[in-house]
Amino acid sequence: TYALEIEGLTKTYGDGFEALKGIDLRVEQGDFFALLGPNGAGKSTTLGIVSSLVNKSAGKVKVFGHDIDTDLAAAKLGLGVVPQEFNFNQFEKVFDIVTTQAGYYGLPLRRARLSTERYLKELGLWDKRDTPARMLSGGMKRRLMIARALVHEPGLLILDEPTAGVDIELRRSMWAFLEEMNRQGTTIILTTHYLEEAEALCRNIAIIDHGSILQNTSKRDLLKQL
Ligand code: ADP
Ligand code: ADP
Repeated sequence: TYALEIEGLTKTYGDGFEALKGIDLRVEQGDFFALLGPNGAGKSTTLGIVSSLVNKSAGKVKVFGHDIDTDLAAAKLGLGVVPQEFNFNQFEKVFDIVTTQAGYYGLPLRRARLSTERYLKELGLWDKRDTPARMLSGGMKRRLMIARALVHEPGLLILDEPTAGVDIELRRSMWAFLEEMNRQGTTIILTTHYLEEAEALCRNIAIIDHGSILQNTSKRDLLKQL
């Protein structure tokens, strides 16, 4: 089974704009995969559909073999998503934001707390656990988004432009964190418009533009062509 399998995915928005024109993607378990493309290519739309925040027009999406149309709860259990925008409650405390999320996945309270502690520590936010999210710096908010996405320990972590607007130091530490998660077995997919980021981290890269996949290849083969 693939961590993520997308077949013939199309999206036409309400205004008639065709953002995805039938894309196919297969991401193996354990992979570190980049969806690389310029702004407006359809990356966020793709992730929005996978995380079922956006309705697709046609096509199939499976997360660890679970079809999001027929088996959404199981698909969601396998998936952690880090969108670009900070969509947590800014007035809630850091610890509570992460534990509450664990509750949505049905984790028992004790496990939810332990998992929250683990990821806040790993992401350098443990000292901020009682701080309301609005008091955090931008970089801390981004790390909070990652901790929240991981709290139910999904097999697949998807990040939308994880280091956009992040300073070089935090970018390096986020890269190191993601590499370590991947080493421990988590499949990771990120979107980026930086070739440099895809090159630094990923084993396989799909290039998307104007709603179509132009290429889907190993990093090594891609770099040979440039
Ligand atoms: P759907 O087809 O999924 O229902 P809609 O076309 O109704 O999507 O749009 C969903 C939301 O996205 C609306 O609030 C709309 O204002 C906003 N939106 C519209 N056009 C754009 C755009 N080009 N980029 C980003 N958001 C947009
Ligand atoms: P990317 O993440 O690669 O920058 P997006 O998936 O956000 O691309 O957007 C793909 C295209 O779809 C863009 O042209 C964008 O303007 C358009 N788009 C995104 N959301 C909406 C929406 N809700 N309604 C209409 N068009 C949209």
